[in-house]
Amino acid sequence: MIRVDAPRRLLQPRSVDEAMEMLAEHPDAVIVAGGTLAVPAWRAGPVPETALCLGAIRELAYTAEAGCGALCSLREIAARHPDAAWGSAAASIGGPALRELATVGGNVVAASPGCVAVALLVAEAHGDAFDLRSRRRIHRVPLVELFINRNLLLLSLNWAPGGHTAFAKAAVRAAGGPNIASVAVRRTAARAAVAVGMPGRLPARLPSAEKCWLAGEGPAEVAAQAAAELTLNDDAPDTRHGRAVAATLVRRLIVRCEGRTADVTGGRQRSAT
Ligand SMILES: Cc1cc2nc3c(=O)[nH]c(=O)nc-3n(C[C@H](O)[C@H](O)[C@H](O)COP(=O)(O)OP(=O)(O)OC[C@H]3O[C@@H](n4cnc5c(N)ncnc54)[C@H](O)[C@@H]3O)c2cc1C
Repeated sequence: MIRVDAPRRLLQPRSVDEAMEMLAEHPDAVIVAGGTLAVPAWRAGPVPETALCLGAIRELAYTAEAGCGALCSLREIAARHPDAAWGSAAASIGGPALRELATVGGNVVAASPGCVAVALLVAEAHGDAFDLRSRRRIHRVPLVELFINRNLLLLSLNWAPGGHTAFAKAAVRAAGGPNIASVAVRRTAARAAVAVGMPGRLPARLPSAEKCWLAGEGPAEVAAQAAAELTLNDDAPDTRHGRAVAATLVRRLIVRCEGRTADVTGGRQRSAT
């Protein structure tokens, strides 16, 4: 028997307007950006009847100072923002071939493990999207909604500029093993942000740890608060070890972000402006 892993109908819009028209006509079409997660999923599970491939929409492939199109590749965002948490996060994913194909939009929507999504959470990012149900463009969609709402075509992302940011992650093996935890932090004069992504749970900010940091507590205290906050979510399947790793990354990133002198070695971490 011949097994065919491709959808029967492939839609390839060349503009956002054309994509919106096609999605209005084929609301069940599966959206494909770089395809690094979507295409392997067809091999493992049911092949969709219709796929809408975004790859030819060049207007969605831009990068800017405080934003990017959904089709911006991980390579491009890493090159444009090498010192920011989101650039470090993108650079930490897979190898060069994967980063060329994979997109920021795909990383945010899949949110699994969503390393770039974790980094953009601390930058208070939001998206512009096309709502497939109302058939309207909607603006300033919070990142957390993009993680769960499957009726949106993400078009672009914008984030808050400035502040000191840093990203780190721990994986089972340095190259390609499953992630244990991804952590990002950001500090401005008036705000402190901490976000964590772990297998089995959506990327999320940790408000209690953030308050603790803003109140002037040290890295160890903020990390302890982060560990306590992660433990509060009883539904999450992560292990005590995973939470301890996440808390350690929080501590190290705060040390680095504040320019403190304590040990910040280990892990795959880089600091940012
Ligand atoms: C070897 C390997 C290692 C990896 N390591 C990591 C890692 O360390 N960290 C990490 O975070 N990820 C990792 N990934 C996962 C993945 O490659 C990335 O998350 C990637 O950014 C997904 O982007 P994509 O463009 O390929 O998405 P696709 O595969 O095209 O799509 C992914 C999902 O998002 C939806 N989607 C994509 N774009 C849009 C859009 N604009 N609007 C609405 N829906 C959309 C699709 O329908 C699909 O459900 C890894 C993958 C591989 C294969």
